[in-house]
This record gives sequence, C-alpha cells and structure tokens, in this order.
Amino acid sequence: MKVPFNDLYTHNRSMHQEIQDAIASVIESSAFVDGPAIGEFEKRFSSFCGGEVAAVSNGTDALMLALLSLDLKPGDEVIVPAQSFIATIEPLFFLGLKPIFVDCCSETYNIDPQKVETAITSRTKAIIAVHLYGCPADIKALRQIATRYDLKIIEDSAQGHCAEIDGVRAGSLGDIATFSFYPGKNLGAFGDAGAVVSKNQEWIKNVRVLRNHGRQKGAKYEHSAIGFNCRMDTIQAAVLTVKLDRLEEWTDRRRKIAAQYTNHLKDIVKTPIETKGVRHVYHLYVIEVPRREDFIANMRELGVQTGIHYPIPMHLHQPVVNALGDKRGFFPNAERSAEHIVSLPIYPEMTEQQIEYVIEATKRSL
Ligand SMILES: *Cc1c(COP(=O)(O)O)cnc(C)c1O
Repeated sequence: MKVPFNDLYTHNRSMHQEIQDAIASVIESSAFVDGPAIGEFEKRFSSFCGGEVAAVSNGTDALMLALLSLDLKPGDEVIVPAQSFIATIEPLFFLGLKPIFVDCCSETYNIDPQKVETAITSRTKAIIAVHLYGCPADIKALRQIATRYDLKIIEDSAQGHCAEIDGVRAGSLGDIATFSFYPGKNLGAFGDAGAVVSKNQEWIKNVRVLRNHGRQKGAKYEHSAIGFNCRMDTIQAAVLTVKLDRLEEWTDRRRKIAAQYTNHLKDIVKTPIETKGVRHVYHLYVIEVPRREDFIANMRELGVQTGIHYPIPMHLHQPVVNALGDKRGFFPNAERSAEHIVSLPIYPEMTEQQIEYVIEATKRSL
C-alpha cells in the first residue's frame, strides 16, 4: 500500500463540479482582480472566524500587512516562537523589526508563555503567537502578559483554520490574525492566497488600502499611502468560498484520524496532546521518534511518506544567524524537538485502510 503525505487531487475531486462552476463564473465576469467573489469570501470568512476580513495574496504578506497596520516602527521588537515555518519572521526583517525568540513548550510545540516575560524590553511591541501544527497557542496566558506590558497579540493562524480555545475560533483569539490558504493548508486555494482578520475595523481598512497600491476604496489614480500589490485573485476567492463550506467536516475528519493515531501510538512514541478547552485541528500530526533517519527510511520502504516540520528551528537558519547572531543553545526545547519530530500523513480523504496501515507501519518502523 502507498500512503502519500497529502492528496490534493482526491481532496479537490470531492467538489470538482462546484469549483469548476465557481471558476467559470469568474471567467464569465472577467473580473479577475477585485471581482465580487472577493467581497463574498471576506463576508463568509468573517462570519466563520469572527472579525473583519481582508483577503490578501498569501500568508506571508498577510503577516506583513498586519504588522504594518499595527504601526510598528523600525527597531521595535516582536516576540516570536523559536520553532515555526520561516515565514513567521520574514516580514519582520523587511520591515526593520527585530524578532526576539522564545523557546517552545515541549508538549505543545507552541511558544512557552512562562518564558515570554524575560524576553520583554522597553522596545517590545507585539507577540506573534503561531498555532503550530493546528494546536492553538496558549492565548489566555499570553493575554495576561500582553495586557501587563501593553503588547499586541498577532495570531499566525496559517496552520490554525478552525482551531478553538473554549469555543472561540482562531482569528478571534488575538488582536489581529493572519491566515494562509496555500494549497496544502487546512483550507487551501488553487494557488497562493491569504487573509488578515481583526475586530479592529480601522486596521482592516488600512490593510485593504495597503494591499491595493495605497488606494482608498473606489479610488483609481489617487493614492493615500505607499502601498503594495498584495491582492487575492478573484478566482482564488471563488474557490475558497466553495471550499469553506466543507472546512468543518474536514476538520472533524482530521481530528478523528488524529484520535485514532494517538489511541494506537501514545504508549510507544510521543504523540500530540490536547489541553482542556483546546480544539487542535491537526494541520500536521507530529510525533517524536528516537532514531528519525531510520524511521523515515523504514516508513518510505513500507510506502508511507512522512515530513519534518521543521528540521531547523528559526533561530538557526544561516541568514537569521547572520542578522541576529548565533543563539544556538538558548532554546533547548525547540532544538531538541527539531531533531526528533516527524509528521505522519493526515488529510480528510484518508481511507480507514490507509489510517490503519500508517499505524502499523509506524509501529514497525521505530
Ligand atoms: C504557510 C505558513 C505561512 C506562510 O503562508 P504563505 O501563504 O505560504 O505565504 C506562515 N506561517 C506559517 C506558520 C505557515 O505554516
């Protein structure tokens, strides 16, 4: 049997006709940029995660626009987890902001709130809380610190669509949130796409101006700011609107698969944990194994594709070291886990046979 890491072909087949129709209607209208599907998606995603939505080009640009809308100044410091996808910190560099790393919690892999306070200085303005692997960051603990030091909380929710804490969805947990709809994310477009979400209407209005060359709504050759081209394509919005209807169902499916994995594997490897009140959405199902290279080779031999997210914590990437200095050894949980983590296949269309096969293969590959 073969189990791929993800299967976008099967995923998209399940709503092939609806998506074709949605794309056809964009082609029919020829409104490829700023078409009505953009506003439609923004409205739908807004009622989905609570807060105003600005549809943008991708998750990295979403972070950049969110940071800009908070009016941070060059030299300001932003607290970030040591382990995430590099895109979490890229915009900080090109905005002249300084990432301040904090170690992750060894159980959830998210930023450890207990280690945040010592990283705060008089220049600290914000915390980027990543819902890594789909597990919501401990926003309640972060909020207490943020309130005390007057910091903004930015959710990097690129992996957290549909994640919740006490029934509150990602996108509404922090002050402003960013999403990626990269094809492999839990809600994926047919190319690049992203969104910024906040209850603060001014910030979202600002993002809408900046994403569109600094144009105010309705303006064409008047520019009220030096902006960017960070617009979402209309076709992506049309695709996402169709797919959004199924996101809850896909999330439930991911959670069921994860529960099955955990049930069978928890006694033999380190499996993900779910703390009370938290809805983990399993963008990735990450375990820790003692001999990773052998494990991955054995799994490949058995036909199961795996991934590593991520083998290098952010503070150890060469350009980051060049810019900020060598911080090796400062974030032991991030460094230690980076050597042992492996991601098992998890996607809504997995069959029961595939799920059982991955469990058996995992046991045999250790
Ligand atoms: C995917 C991802 C991003 C970037 O999103 P893009 O749409 O690829 O630009 C940012 N942060 C995290 C945690 C991600 O997983």
